[in-house]
Amino acid sequence: MSSNFADSQGGTLAVALAELEGRLGEVLKEVRRLRALARALEEENQRLRTIMFAEQAGEGGYQQLLRFYEDGFHVCPPHFARVRDSDGCLFCLSFLEKKGLHPHG
Ligand SMILES: [Zn+2]
Repeated sequence: MSSNFADSQGGTLAVALAELEGRLGEVLKEVRRLRALARALEEENQRLRTIMFAEQAGEGGYQQLLRFYEDGFHVCPPHFARVRDSDGCLFCLSFLEKKGLHPHG
């Protein structure tokens, strides 16, 4: 009788664990989805900031972006306003070149 009791408890526990595992999988899937969404929103935010920065600065906006770049900051949408390596950034360069700007050095 006591072994029957243990078996039935063990079975219940296994079912509960399987259920919990299933729910955890769902939660992890949701976390991954939200993380991807957050990343997408951050990238969009950076892109919009770049555009706003250029528009607010008006005529000389792109010249200011160029100076900003030469001061050592990213002006490319993916990394806007972050400190960049002295090596330069290909995204920044192609972004500036599209605006007809050519950084020195
Ligand atoms: Zn960059």
